[in-house]
Amino acid sequence: MLLKFVEEAEFGPGPPINTLFVSLPVDSKEVSLKDSCKWVTKQNAFELLSGVKPCADRVGPLAYIGYLSQSNSLPNKVADSPLLYQEYPPGVTVVPMKSGTIKPFSTTNLVVFSAKKSSSGLSNSGSSIYHADALIMDPGCKIHAQLSDLISSLPGKLLVFVTHHHHDHVEGLSIVQKINPEATLLAHEKTISRIHGNWSGACIGVSGGENIFIGDQQLKVIFAPGHTDGHLALLHVGTNSLIVGDHCVGEGSAVLDVTSGGNMKDYFDTTYKFIDLSPHILIPMHGRMNLWPKRMLCGYLKHRRDREARILKSIENGASSMFDIVSDVYSDVDKKLWIAASSNVRLHVDFLNYQNKLPKGFSVEKFKASCGVAFILRWLCACIKSRLNTPLVAAITIGGSVAITYAMKKK
Ligand SMILES: [Zn+2]
Repeated sequence: MLLKFVEEAEFGPGPPINTLFVSLPVDSKEVSLKDSCKWVTKQNAFELLSGVKPCADRVGPLAYIGYLSQSNSLPNKVADSPLLYQEYPPGVTVVPMKSGTIKPFSTTNLVVFSAKKSSSGLSNSGSSIYHADALIMDPGCKIHAQLSDLISSLPGKLLVFVTHHHHDHVEGLSIVQKINPEATLLAHEKTISRIHGNWSGACIGVSGGENIFIGDQQLKVIFAPGHTDGHLALLHVGTNSLIVGDHCVGEGSAVLDVTSGGNMKDYFDTTYKFIDLSPHILIPMHGRMNLWPKRMLCGYLKHRRDREARILKSIENGASSMFDIVSDVYSDVDKKLWIAASSNVRLHVDFLNYQNKLPKGFSVEKFKASCGVAFILRWLCACIKSRLNTPLVAAITIGGSVAITYAMKKK
């Protein structure tokens, strides 16, 4: 009997799905498997692949593969592998690495491209065309030993592409530089200006449209603002795979960063731009890749449009402050999430204003004055009223009263 054990890397948010292939029919149950491990016969494997529906979140195993020759040896041997990755489509290697990202995820996908043969070196052969032997995207991991090993295994002529400046995408930059001081950073100028102290080596500012060649693999830089104003994506031309940074996530919806130029109009425009590119595969930096990009992107558009419509309805019904809108539109959502929701509401109201959709009586100035501290105070009162006595609320309440007392003393 030949067993083929396929262990999936940790994309999250759920546990990895491991698969065990057996070359002969399984007629005894002598081997017990872990909960996350599934038996797959040839017929089952065929059905898994042929019967997959657009609503499914994955097609079969696309992961690190280990072989076991005898039935007696259990598949846990494969766990010796120091770092699990997924190479799909061929040429695009995705390594989920532990990072300080936000829940429900705990990893950031590091994407690696490597040339089969070494070229003459990193060069810029005229109008925005770059050549190198390897490229990594978004080294945002916390466990630096893993990153060190990975960088050491890559050719020296290395490009480091960063989609945007958030810490869970750049935390490993200093390690990359330590292992390979000759590496060159490629990012948007706005991102470069925000990466303080993380990188002192060579930098090239890119803004979309540039071509990068890693051996014979072509990558195209796509300007993709919305999550931040300097956000970039990368298209792997040979397989038409779009690596989207934080524009999309494997599960749930992406948050826009209002403090770094996050913008709803840009977010919509970038989503339409992605749809026009008709990618075959969409690779986010958190979670599994998506094999139905159009469905996912249209789903994102619908979700945002629905939210925008609910916010507009709330305003038309008389809501005029941030608190009025959030407490109405997000009434069915845990109050703990209202602070994060308020930043999206702010961006939606800006976008409604841009589209001239706001009713005449609505004052944008008054609305803006009701954001920030004014909103937080009303939110705290609402939390206390509803007796949501979590330690967080208690801490913020204490912090808030200290701040108010301090402010009063200063007057
Ligand atoms: Zn981000």
